[in-house]
Amino acid sequence: MSERHKRFEAIFNGMHLAILVVDPQSEIITDANPAAQDLLARPTAALVGQKIAEIPLEDSLKLRQLMQKASRQGDACSETLHCLGADGKVLPVEIYAALLERPRRRLIMLTLRDVSATKEAQMKLMQARDAAEFSNRAKSQFLANMSHELRTPLNAINGFARIMADGLFGPLENEKYEEYMQDIIDSGAHLLSIINDILDISKVEAGQMDLREEKTSLPEVVQAAVALVGNRAKQSELTLSTALDEALPSLWADPRALKQIALNLLSNAIKFTPRGGEIECGARLEADGSMLLYVADTGVGIPEKDYQTIFEPFSQLDHDLAAEAEEGTGLGLALCKQLAGLHGAEIGVISEVGKGTAVSVKFPPERTISGRSKGGEGPAA
Ligand code: ADP
Repeated sequence: MSERHKRFEAIFNGMHLAILVVDPQSEIITDANPAAQDLLARPTAALVGQKIAEIPLEDSLKLRQLMQKASRQGDACSETLHCLGADGKVLPVEIYAALLERPRRRLIMLTLRDVSATKEAQMKLMQARDAAEFSNRAKSQFLANMSHELRTPLNAINGFARIMADGLFGPLENEKYEEYMQDIIDSGAHLLSIINDILDISKVEAGQMDLREEKTSLPEVVQAAVALVGNRAKQSELTLSTALDEALPSLWADPRALKQIALNLLSNAIKFTPRGGEIECGARLEADGSMLLYVADTGVGIPEKDYQTIFEPFSQLDHDLAAEAEEGTGLGLALCKQLAGLHGAEIGVISEVGKGTAVSVKFPPERTISGRSKGGEGPAA
């Protein structure tokens, strides 16, 4: 035996991968290394000279097809099959088949690798992912139910507090009580807005927020939202204007969700813009056919490092306008992002600290109903 031959035999025998060499014509195993013996729990003598069909494989037809493929195409190909290993354990085994061209005959080299550890890790990962998804849905479901249950008693508290503050059945007779009543009303309203936001966010997360999509006019949405916050803007001495193109096409969207987005963005602009500032709410068609809804202000601004954070639930930045920020829940932008996401839209922010902020929602072009025609029941094709 030549030196080279001996070296290759040593490599073959020392290899940790199981190797079987098979004659594709007779399907007889001509060589098997010790690793194959270990994996298949059979002595070499019980492998060499045996037909490949003798190997305790779950699907010998698949193995035959694999060998035929390697023999025909000459390329290595692989398949994962189950085989009976030591202790009668069923093991997933990845089998590579490669053609060995020899001077007189063609042989197939099968390399077998026990992939049970990889499969088990994949399975555990999938189970962990399923469990995490399940508990996330359960959490959202719990929050949705809780928020719903909390709203009923809170409505009673708010309603009766208002009746008492208005003195419907007689005056409160003590100034302190009037002050406390106002505190109850303010706190109740704040709590209700937190609960409403949590309810909405958990509904989206639990997949229970169904959009009622229809042909929607963005200018109408903007005008309705602006009308609702007009008084607050005036009280804060802010100039509130709209920028709308009359010929704007319609958008396939849920108008209630859009109004909620516009209102949240507007109320942030009002909260975070000092007196004398300006706010513009607008909608426009972009060159690529997408539609943009935006609110821009000349307020305190947002540092670039916080562009992502502000869209996470309960995130509130440390502005100097502490009193205004106290009004917030930190849920407004998170909800806007979720509602935008349901429309396949992207929400983004551009800002400069001390100069102002613009938050915009960009709807995909498929949602633009081209031609602003009266007809057309669905989104543009
Ligand atoms: P909040 O209820 O506090 O307004 P949001 O989720 O709507 O909650 O906003 C999160 C935070 O992002 C706010 O607390 C504020 O710090 C910052 N923010 C949002 N909009 C603006 C804006 N127009 N100008 C400056 N800061 C803003």
